[in-house]
Amino acid sequence: MTTNGLNRLRDLRAMPYSGPLKRPFITSRRRVESVQGVLVELELEDGSIGYGTAAETWAVTGESVASSLAAINGPVFEALTGRDLSLREAEDAIASCCVGNTSAKAAVDVALHDAWASGLGVPLAVALGGRPDAHAATDMTISLDDPEAMAREAIAASSDGFEILKVKLGGDPAVDLNRLESVHEAVPSARFRLDANQGWGAKEAIRMIRRIEDAGIPVDLVEQPTPKANLDALAQVTAAVDTPVMADESVADERDAWEILRREAADLINIKLAKCGGIRPALAIADLAATAGVGCMMGAMMEPRVSVAAAAHVALAHPNIQLVDLDSAEWIQDPRIAGGYELEGSRLSLTEAPGLGMSMDSALTEGTAP
Ligand SMILES: [Mg+2]
Repeated sequence: MTTNGLNRLRDLRAMPYSGPLKRPFITSRRRVESVQGVLVELELEDGSIGYGTAAETWAVTGESVASSLAAINGPVFEALTGRDLSLREAEDAIASCCVGNTSAKAAVDVALHDAWASGLGVPLAVALGGRPDAHAATDMTISLDDPEAMAREAIAASSDGFEILKVKLGGDPAVDLNRLESVHEAVPSARFRLDANQGWGAKEAIRMIRRIEDAGIPVDLVEQPTPKANLDALAQVTAAVDTPVMADESVADERDAWEILRREAADLINIKLAKCGGIRPALAIADLAATAGVGCMMGAMMEPRVSVAAAAHVALAHPNIQLVDLDSAEWIQDPRIAGGYELEGSRLSLTEAPGLGMSMDSALTEGTAP
């Protein structure tokens, strides 16, 4: 930051990014074999540099690599360029420069915060008010597949030190219970988070969750059992079962969160930077939920390590974000991006590096390696 507390954009560059997955990521909505996205490198007038990333998520935010590049190089760049801005003014400029494009906005917003915290010389989580020794346990996701394949994945995740498994369901309801039983049998010590990705109707969800409760399988929460636009269905499930129900696709931004809280439609909210468009709205959702006594989880899309690092810093800075679901970077085979946080088994913690603390292969930022 400059001496008057303001800063000015010196450079903003966005380039395509591609990272192969170690294994396909499969939900009831989509199948992903590699992460296609955009990498942002931003430099402020005081010389501090920040990074951000966005992933192509047609099925969630409707964004592509091309649309993200167009948004960042167009309205986002114009909103930030040529004038002195406070951090708050820069955040607002990004948020209001165009509608939608939340992944693209989040990539630039994260890069801005990375540079800002780097300039302050502290980890981003600390700049946001968190403790440097904060830590959390992340889950590992088990893709939607046949019961035997899911059991094999669960055993592998458990042997890597993950005690909480996020099991993707919401496929054929007749098979979903077999899937969960198979995973539970394979790893009896694990706790589970279930994610139906909108795959069930309200009655189906209630029947399924009650059967799981009766079977005594340790399930900590069920994410987005019903279609995202049908908040009545979500509220119906939440009221009918003992297991906590979490809203994911139903909540993109603060307005969605307010609607969920007002209707008591969910017990928990899953916050993602790519859905809400940046760090300030993410913190605002966590604050809003806290006033209603609703806890939050920090998640991420299947997106590059920079995005996951940003989510980790935000989660570890806010007392109402008690749960983290930040395993995405473990799926990506890409040694060109490292740092940002430490993961030992399932234990996620900060490093002492300022900002996000990413280390980046220069071939990526020079745009010579997509
Ligand atoms: Mg989800």
